[in-house]
Amino acid sequence: MLDEKLEPIYADVLRRNPGEDEFHQAVREVLESLGAVIAKHPRYAEHALIERICEPERQIIFRVPWVTDNGEVQINRGFRVQFNSVLGPFKGGLRFHPSVMLGTVKFLGFEQVFKNALTGMPIGGGKGGSDFDPKGRSNGEIMRFCQSFMTELSRHLGEHTDVPAGDIGVGRRELGYMFGQYKRMSNRYESGVLTGKGLTWGGSRVRTEATGYGAVFFVERALATRKQGFAGKKVLVSGSGNVAIYTIEKIHQLGGRVIACSDSSGYVVDNDGIDLALLKDIKETKRGRISDYAAARRASATFVPAGRIWDVPADIAMPSATQNELNGQDARTLVKNGVIAVGEGANMPSTPEAVRVFQEAGIIFAPGKAANAGGVATSALEMQQNASRDSWTFEVTEQKLGVIMNSIHDRCAEVAEEYGSPGNYVLGANVAGFLRVADAMDALGVI
Ligand code: GLU
Repeated sequence: MLDEKLEPIYADVLRRNPGEDEFHQAVREVLESLGAVIAKHPRYAEHALIERICEPERQIIFRVPWVTDNGEVQINRGFRVQFNSVLGPFKGGLRFHPSVMLGTVKFLGFEQVFKNALTGMPIGGGKGGSDFDPKGRSNGEIMRFCQSFMTELSRHLGEHTDVPAGDIGVGRRELGYMFGQYKRMSNRYESGVLTGKGLTWGGSRVRTEATGYGAVFFVERALATRKQGFAGKKVLVSGSGNVAIYTIEKIHQLGGRVIACSDSSGYVVDNDGIDLALLKDIKETKRGRISDYAAARRASATFVPAGRIWDVPADIAMPSATQNELNGQDARTLVKNGVIAVGEGANMPSTPEAVRVFQEAGIIFAPGKAANAGGVATSALEMQQNASRDSWTFEVTEQKLGVIMNSIHDRCAEVAEEYGSPGNYVLGANVAGFLRVADAMDALGVI
């Protein structure tokens, strides 16, 4: 429910951003939490503060021309939405996926503002990407696309201005091609302009693992409030990309058993627990499909094409693929099957109806902007190492990630309690993120 003071703000967002459904959804979810804030502190409803937070500082849309291996000229669209820089340089990933539109990038940028605020680190929020489809493209094609994309994007970046990283379709390989092109164009070795870099060229240890590990740390801490843990639990992890792989790794380290994961073609169930070395080889090295996993593990695994992974009975669910991948019906199935916790590794994977089902059932629900903040937090640690020309060990960096995730969890829990809804991490995350951004906006004048 929206507070009546916030209704006209939301109506204005709908009017001014037509057709951008995912952006509307992300804004509405935050506004639904802000009723409690303006009831307690009416000043946050003044000076069009909330309206300003819903409007990106700058939106860049550009042409990305490139040439295939066969010599055909292709055209894609590039985006960078620089949403809010009140806490630091714009920070957020780049997504390469055919579904990417301006509204997708705006929703991700909006989420990123609050997520980054929750980390407590000096980073603003932004997001970018392209409707380029990397599937089936050769290394040479990927490189030429990344170089063309960066040729335009470079003029908008800088370690003190805007610092991209990866997201769906953008990993170390793509960041390497982009960093190489930025370096040529700027004639500077400006390590801090991108994060998620390789270890030999300015990257941080644990950045690859950070989003998945962080999501597991958050859920482990939430489970501890109910005297539970991952040990002995059966877990579903949707997706099989970077977030899913390192979510599975950490769950196995903590004694849980991940019995299913997925990709866009379907899901696999492996009752012996997902064989992570095999999954990494198929997904990270061979860039193959999840069906290849089932084919290689005939004794224990089955492939279910085009099914719903959420139909598999389990104790914990970690949606780690993409937005709106878990709907109201899926949520009811999970609850009926006795799920005790849901932790979002992806950005906004649960539909609003699914979130309502989880909350009404009283299970632990950890929203993406809190639970998956470990990725961007470790990006900020990478920026720290770049700025001080230092490089930390795996143990030191992972320990810092653990401290950050615990403090995000505790801050969300504390704010949820303060605003009258103990255990409501959605409210806690939205309000805690908002307060940090809003207080800084207010201090800096009408910006
Ligand atoms: N794309 C990631 C996210 O959704 C990481 C962003 C970053 O490291 O800047 O938070």
